[in-house]
Amino acid sequence: MSPYIEQENGVFRSVCPLDCPDACALHVTKKDGKIIKVSGNPEHPITKGAICHKVRHMTDRIYHPERVLHPLKRIGPKGKGEFRRITWEEAIEEIVKRYQNIIQEHGPEAILPYSYYGNMGFVNADGMDRRFFHRLGSSQLDQTICSIAGNVGYGYTMGVTGGISPEETIKSKLIVIWGGNLVSTNMHQVVLAEQARKNGAKIIVIDVHKNQTGKWADWFIGIRPGTDAALALGMMHLLFAEQMVNEAFLEDYTYGWKELREHVKAYPPERVSRITGVPKEDIIKLARMYGETSPSFIRIGNGLQHHENGGMNVRTIACLPALTGQWALEGGGAVKSNGWYAQVNFSALQKPELRSNKQARTINMNQIADALLDLDPPIHALFVYNSNPAVVAPNTTKVQQGLMREDLFTVVHDLFITDTAKYADIVLPATSSFENTDLYKSYWHHYMQLQEPIIPAEGESISNFQLFKTLAKAFGFDEDAFDDTEEDLIEQALDFPSNPYLQGVTLQALKEKGWVKLNMEAGKPFLKKLPTTSGKIEFYSETMENQGLPPLPTYIPLAEGFDTESDAGKDDRYPLMFVSPPNHQFLNSTFANVKKHQSLEKQPLLQIHRVDAAKRGIVDSDLVRIFNDRGYCVLRAKVCEDMLPGTLISQGLWWGGERQNRVNHLTSTRVADMGGGATFFSTTVQVEKADG
Ligand code: SF4
Repeated sequence: MSPYIEQENGVFRSVCPLDCPDACALHVTKKDGKIIKVSGNPEHPITKGAICHKVRHMTDRIYHPERVLHPLKRIGPKGKGEFRRITWEEAIEEIVKRYQNIIQEHGPEAILPYSYYGNMGFVNADGMDRRFFHRLGSSQLDQTICSIAGNVGYGYTMGVTGGISPEETIKSKLIVIWGGNLVSTNMHQVVLAEQARKNGAKIIVIDVHKNQTGKWADWFIGIRPGTDAALALGMMHLLFAEQMVNEAFLEDYTYGWKELREHVKAYPPERVSRITGVPKEDIIKLARMYGETSPSFIRIGNGLQHHENGGMNVRTIACLPALTGQWALEGGGAVKSNGWYAQVNFSALQKPELRSNKQARTINMNQIADALLDLDPPIHALFVYNSNPAVVAPNTTKVQQGLMREDLFTVVHDLFITDTAKYADIVLPATSSFENTDLYKSYWHHYMQLQEPIIPAEGESISNFQLFKTLAKAFGFDEDAFDDTEEDLIEQALDFPSNPYLQGVTLQALKEKGWVKLNMEAGKPFLKKLPTTSGKIEFYSETMENQGLPPLPTYIPLAEGFDTESDAGKDDRYPLMFVSPPNHQFLNSTFANVKKHQSLEKQPLLQIHRVDAAKRGIVDSDLVRIFNDRGYCVLRAKVCEDMLPGTLISQGLWWGGERQNRVNHLTSTRVADMGGGATFFSTTVQVEKADG
């Protein structure tokens, strides 16, 4: 029993469960048994009491009048969201009966779990659910929707996905934020960058959109979508040409620098300017600032990996710090993700040895639209939790068609009747993280944190952990793995001697303080332990070569989006690039149905450059229709100059209102060059004024 639940009043330790690098430590205030306030815990060494608007209003989500509090069964047509209340016993019985029939007729692979990190906790996102589906023998899901392409790309260069400690960045003298709107998605890095700025640092933002982060920077550089690798290669060209590289560092710590020096001669500033849309003078100025300033830090955002060339974009940018020897300096280097330092024992957590069907196929979650309609043998049952694929997955039109299939049995475990839940046969009520026990890491800072339940489960809701444990029992799975408690899972996850950074992180220590810092000393010296083939930072990667990829960092034009240098492959029907990054008030699709967050965000917008708007007779506030062969959406135009002509921006994943504002009607299920990642931003469209 949690020490907090029974206390009706007080302030309790907590942690933000959302898919955000900051993983803020929270204080949750209870009055008469109800949460009345969520604020930052000022004692946390890095998040220091500051939290974002999204979570400050979390109580609106926890006590939302439309929260699902009982199991429901569909009584209307799929997609209409018409349900009747049923008991948990009826719900479990129905799932068991339907699954047993499907397994008998089609085999267990006809069942597909679909989940991501709506809640980042190891116990509820990576634990009992995996054990259950392993034992069931279902198809496996490749969880590729967010960061995989860039992580793989970064790994080819560095061997790991880790970078420098965020705290160090206050010592940086030049901070380059590349492809990430940190004001909305990594606010504590902005706080640290502000401190660095007070110490004399300059802040450069490179992005396709002059968002809040671009406006806050000392210098914003607008770039065409999918051309980031070309800009990095142009910088390398100049770093070599003007002798700004650190040859001693290159000799000691890198592999293939002489091949790289030859290779980047093909990227002079004139050519790079044609590709990227960045003026030649700015490319030269950027390269000189980077080459002449130490220590310099690059925060690689998530945006630039959501392209067909996304892995290579990140791999290429990740080469830059080594050229000038930044990794050897405090405050020098890069961060793409620091989640690697906090790797836990996934094998103990998920127990792959339970797999009853070792040959079960794996389905890329970015291709759920195709999988639901085209896969042979077909999927006959979909189990959705921690995600909302009808909104977040590419090609919404096709996802919806798949969810409409009468021969598809869909179960959704969620707090709300999401767009996906409207198609479900059974909806199960889920707890919020404040009702759970869980273990959290950050993929930016170095603190592990514990969540203990603060309030009892609302209504009849249960956690993912409890749900899959209940289902395992109902299916008669009698392995010990299904008897474990949440705390057992946490202890198993942390028992991982092969990760030295976890030394000292124990459940007991977490209970005492709420958080424990990873043992960063255990991994030193970082540069001497890189797990690449050569043991060094790899400009030339034989691993990539063996996999049929270019061994040196290279600019590869987008297939959809054309070669901006030559216009080769340009489809005149869809001449505009459409990019849909996060907005400030939602986190992916979370909060989009909460009035407070909707009113702060106001309405779904299409930001269009005044040149593109004028060509189409579009003025501010016009309703516009954006379309391609996959579908369309309708948004309100905001005419501006915050991106280069030819690029359209729509921030946020809206749902809960008009169906026309779902931007993923436009995006494709094609996958990125690495890791099967998503290609949301490699999307071409046309736009016109909407009639009526
Ligand atoms: S969403 Fe991010 S910034 Fe906001 S409270 Fe959670 S971890 Fe902190």
